[in-house]
Amino acid sequence: MPAVPASRTLLGALGATLVAATSAAALPVVAIDAGHGGSDSGAIGALAPEVVTGLEPRFNVFLQPVLLEKDVNLDVANRLNAWLAARGFPTLMTRSTDNAGGDVPYTSEGADLKARTDAANAALAEIFVSIHQNSSRTGASGTETYVRSSAPEVTHLLAAGVQRTLVACLGLPDRGVKERSFYVLRNTAMPAILVEGAFLSNEVDVGMLASPDVRQRMAEAIGGAIFQYAGLGDPGPICSGVGVAPPPVPKKIVLTRAGRKLTQRAGINPKRGDLWIATVRDASGAPMSSIPVRARLPNGKGVNTTSRPDGKALLAVPRRKGRVVVAVAMPGIKVAARAKVPARRR
Ligand SMILES: [Zn+2]
Repeated sequence: MPAVPASRTLLGALGATLVAATSAAALPVVAIDAGHGGSDSGAIGALAPEVVTGLEPRFNVFLQPVLLEKDVNLDVANRLNAWLAARGFPTLMTRSTDNAGGDVPYTSEGADLKARTDAANAALAEIFVSIHQNSSRTGASGTETYVRSSAPEVTHLLAAGVQRTLVACLGLPDRGVKERSFYVLRNTAMPAILVEGAFLSNEVDVGMLASPDVRQRMAEAIGGAIFQYAGLGDPGPICSGVGVAPPPVPKKIVLTRAGRKLTQRAGINPKRGDLWIATVRDASGAPMSSIPVRARLPNGKGVNTTSRPDGKALLAVPRRKGRVVVAVAMPGIKVAARAKVPARRR
C-alpha cells in the first residue's frame, strides 16, 4: 500500500460527514477523456451477428458488424460523467460527440491530443482520466491502467485504485498498473491516468464491451475509485450496472401505403409515386424511434432512412409494378416487411 498523503487521510477519516456536507466546489474537477473520435476510430473489434450494442451500428468494408473503440470510450465516458455529476463532482468532457478533442472535426493526432490536454489544463482539472480499449494480435484479454513513471505518488494511488475496482467489476484478467509516457499523461498538469478497459481484439472481451451493462459497470468502477481517491469513503455499490435497462430490440415492421392526400402532404408527386410508411415496433408493440431502416424500391433503387419519434419511416415509392422491401439496418436484427406495388393505371 503506497503512502497516503496527510490531506487525503484526513479527508478519508471525515468521509461519512463529507458525503452529506460537501458542496460541489469542494470536490475535485474531473476531466473525462474519451479516447479517439471522428475519423480516428481507435481499435476495431469484430461483433457476432446477433449482438445488440445500444451504440450506433457500425460495419467494416465487408459490411460485417464491428465495435469501434471511439464509440465504446465515449459511451463509458458519458456514463462516468453522469455517475460523477450525480454525486456533485464538477466534470469536463474533452469530447462529448463523435469528433476529435474539443468536439472539433479530426485533423491530426497532435491537434486532437493537444485539444484534450489544453481543455483539462485550462479548466484547472484536478483529475484526468483517459478512457481507452485495448487491441493486440496475441489474443490477450484483461484490464490495465497506465500512469507516467515520474508522476507523483498520488497519481500512482489513483491508478491503483481505478485498476482495482475495474478488475473487481469486470472480472477480466488483472494486467496491472503500467508505466508509459503517453501524450495525455505527460502534458496534463494534474494527476492523470489512462485506462485500457478490455481488448477489442479478444472474443470474450469484445462481447463484454458490446454490452451496455458492462460499460455501465466500467464507468461505475472508475467513478467509485475516484470517489475513494477524493477521500469520500465508501462509494456504495459500484459493480451493479443497475438502472440500465437492456435496449429494446426491433421486432416488427408494418408497411402500409398511405392515401393520395398524405402522399401530396409529404411532398411526393402522386403521378410519380406514393407515400409508404414503415412503422418499427418493439416486442411490446411500442413504436421505436431512431432505428436505421433500409428499403429496396420497385425500380431497384435502395434507400436508407431512420424511423421518426413516432416509429414511422417515410418512403417515396415509385408507382411501378414490383415489390417494396423494408428491413431494419442493425447488426444481428432480421426484421423486414415486403409488399407488392401495383402497376400504374393509365
Ligand atoms: Zn485507444
